[in-house]
Amino acid sequence: MHKTKAEKKAHVEKLMEIVGLAPRLANVYPHELDGGRRQRIGIARALALDPKLIVCDEPVSALDVSIQAQVLNLLRELQKEYNIAYIFITHDLSVVNHFSDDIAVMYLGQIVEKAPSKELFNNPVHPYTKALLSAIPIPDPDAQVEQIPLKGEISSPINMARDCHFAARCPYATEVCHASTPELVNRGDEHFVACHLF
Ligand code: SF4
Repeated sequence: MHKTKAEKKAHVEKLMEIVGLAPRLANVYPHELDGGRRQRIGIARALALDPKLIVCDEPVSALDVSIQAQVLNLLRELQKEYNIAYIFITHDLSVVNHFSDDIAVMYLGQIVEKAPSKELFNNPVHPYTKALLSAIPIPDPDAQVEQIPLKGEISSPINMARDCHFAARCPYATEVCHASTPELVNRGDEHFVACHLF
């Protein structure tokens, strides 16, 4: 639908208001804005098309913690207000835990475990997921957490063999792990895992 210049301007002003950007910032250059505001512009641009799904690729990784919380809260408010689904791609598992309903853990491009967020954090099954969760920093000097170090080289993602791609680093690998790729299987309660152990 064609929009007049005035309509476009009004649309931009509305989007800026939705993402919490002051009208006085409408004509500033990107380098004049801090990271949080630049991220809000990215969100406004995504909203301009009235989406039902937004793919957020590391949306808060470059921001400091307090700004991260602001951007995550904004995304959550927008989700409720406009009924938007997110595919949220991140390496930060604390953020994932705080934000996601369902989590899929990927290793070398394959989903190795998938479950509702609470279930995955309370009952991780795949050896890679367990190692990832054990590495989450806990802001409590008295907390006793046993870290699971991952040894070995990451396999090359080019010409992948028909094995478990995690086999070279997995402490539980057996012969079958080097011979066939495990399928993603539902263990019940929508908890899927791809591992020959299960
Ligand atoms: S399939 Fe084998 S190598 Fe892969 S995660 Fe399971 S036990 Fe480890």
